[in-house]
Amino acid sequence: MRPGFPVARDSKDYFAGGQRIGLGEIPGREEVRTMSTNSLWPTHEKSEEQHRREICTAGKWMYDRGFIVACEGNISVRLDENRVLTTPTCMNKGMLEPQDLVITNLEGRQLAGERKFSSEIAMHLLFYRMRPDVNAICHAHPPTATGFAAAGRSLNQALLPEVIIGLGQIPLVRYATPGTPELSDAIEPFVPHYDALLLANHGAVTCGPDLLTAFFRMETIEHFAKIVLSAELAGGPVLLSSREVAKLMAARARYFVTPPPGGGAELPETKDTGESSGAHVSLTRNELDALIDEAVRKDRARR
Ligand SMILES: [Zn+2]
Repeated sequence: MRPGFPVARDSKDYFAGGQRIGLGEIPGREEVRTMSTNSLWPTHEKSEEQHRREICTAGKWMYDRGFIVACEGNISVRLDENRVLTTPTCMNKGMLEPQDLVITNLEGRQLAGERKFSSEIAMHLLFYRMRPDVNAICHAHPPTATGFAAAGRSLNQALLPEVIIGLGQIPLVRYATPGTPELSDAIEPFVPHYDALLLANHGAVTCGPDLLTAFFRMETIEHFAKIVLSAELAGGPVLLSSREVAKLMAARARYFVTPPPGGGAELPETKDTGESSGAHVSLTRNELDALIDEAVRKDRARR
């Protein structure tokens, strides 16, 4: 028999931090299913050895899906109050062995491991210091989402119910050199309020109560970016209304989604916010000239 972890039979166990991982109706199934060692287990309660294996698996998933190439990206999990297990620098994250990983404290001092951790760990440590609810971070450069980030665009439109329920929106953090304190400064205001961020001209970072959730959020960002792009090519996205967004936000509890503790996240841009802010006004050249003429006439009349 292959080594595996027993999977409980309660349907709630098939949700990881608000993300459903099972398909179909699980309750009622009598057999205890097993999850192989090259999967991620939807909880954070694991031995260090399991965390090491899971980071290697998540790295392979990110590499296989094209979210990273060469030596890009990094992954970490919180081991306890002061120790973080993370991927080493200058290695392909799809080809890691458990012993390649490095342990650091929350201040970024290396505690164990032969290799060196990435300078991008500072971004991870910022999340762990500010968010006690966060136990795992994924950082990658998924090409479509990174394309939006490189075009200076956030993924903030109210388009898909699952993205709105799970993440609200994905804001864009201003550019700063990777691995420097400037990048941490740029990210900091967003950390309490969002679980997924786009980093301008760089990539994306996601967090979660466990590694599976953080990975799913990275997958969601890229999937959403592809759909937004397709909608633009297909004639332009049709945004949901604020009323529809409010209904989805109210449904979060039903889907076991716990929003970030900071609250105050901006809601996605809706059909009506676009209209009320006058963001999309179209005029012909003649209409624009007439408006300008009228404004000039009024201004002269007042003098
Ligand atoms: Zn990066």
